[in-house]
Amino acid sequence: MDGSIPDYQMTALAMAIYSEGMSFEETVALTLAMRDSGKVLSLTDVTAPKVDKHSTGGVGDKVSICLAPIMAACGVAVPMVSGRGLGHTGGTLDKLEAIPGFRVNLSVKEFRAQLRTIGCALIGQTSDLAPADRRLYALRDVTGTVESIPLITASILSKKLAEGIDGLVLDVKVGRGAFMKSLSSAKELARSLVRVGRLAGKRVSALLTDMNSPIGYTIGNSVETIEAFQVLHDGGPEDLREITFALGAEMLRTAGLTRSKAEAVRRQKAALREGTALRKMQAIVGAQGGDTRVVDEPDRLPVARHRSTVTAPKAGYIREIDALELGYASMGLGAGRKRAEDPVDPGAGIRLHLQRGDRVVAGQELATLYSSKRSLLEGGAKRVRTCFEIGKRRPEPCDRIIGTIRR
Ligand code: URA
Repeated sequence: MDGSIPDYQMTALAMAIYSEGMSFEETVALTLAMRDSGKVLSLTDVTAPKVDKHSTGGVGDKVSICLAPIMAACGVAVPMVSGRGLGHTGGTLDKLEAIPGFRVNLSVKEFRAQLRTIGCALIGQTSDLAPADRRLYALRDVTGTVESIPLITASILSKKLAEGIDGLVLDVKVGRGAFMKSLSSAKELARSLVRVGRLAGKRVSALLTDMNSPIGYTIGNSVETIEAFQVLHDGGPEDLREITFALGAEMLRTAGLTRSKAEAVRRQKAALREGTALRKMQAIVGAQGGDTRVVDEPDRLPVARHRSTVTAPKAGYIREIDALELGYASMGLGAGRKRAEDPVDPGAGIRLHLQRGDRVVAGQELATLYSSKRSLLEGGAKRVRTCFEIGKRRPEPCDRIIGTIRR
């Protein structure tokens, strides 16, 4: 970070690690060095157990936005530092910024105070938390060296370990729409994250979850935030609720607040039914300068005015919905970035009308596309049309939760 190592040498290091891999000890050394490249927060004044959740990146993954307030309502302190969209995957920060006025750049003092009073703060990576990751990541992004298990481990954990957490639950995505396409590589990443995290003295576990088709019905920023708020109103899509409750149960276990998964799910459902999670979200949005009316009335969130629909070419069952292609299509409508400095269109995105396994008739609407630029809709519709596989037989149901890794 003192500038003595030029970019070409950092890139050479990234490429060597990408092609040769690293031993466990080397991964630990890189992770801790990157953690210590900036400030390491100590949140000892926050008395509740401090547990965060991190997803390795998915499509339609708005889980953090409903999960964080549910956890705060259940007594966990959630110091959540999130990222922006990356490639075809969305980012929690971009989704939160769809809320008019919402500030993601709190000072450390504000972050700490909010954790004490509300039990949750949702912020972006500040320049002083693991700055070495920021530098290395920018180089990896443009040199094709992102998909390396030791580099991903060091990148994710250096930021999370600098947050002042007691524990961390990782959502390691597997499948077409994930960075890890195969179950074996996802397991390897999950084990690497859990082992390095534990060695750094934190309680860390990982859930492996399916990312072949998008989560819920929405992809984009405003549309996903609306869907996450629907969960806080005790509604929302079943698959989104299932993933949220599974990760929440693991967070409550990590925090030492529940003894069984059934009890943890009951407590989360009660937080939704009784409105305590919704009130937490109102408090978070209010404290971070956002318009709290959108929490009560999610449809106030801005959705782009130019729209088009894609319809089914034939009747049958939806056998697959390609999360990867939908992620790129949403990005192409303006919801994501091609380069780090590009702005995002908060109102751009895609709303699906059906999910995998649903029956469809010819001509039925499959998806609505939104963009602030009319010219982007035609290309987007062409791409979205290719994402649906329709066949005669109903596909086997697929479990979103594949497994848990605790060692
Ligand atoms: N997310 C990160 O924060 N870092 C990576 O390297 C990959 C995904």
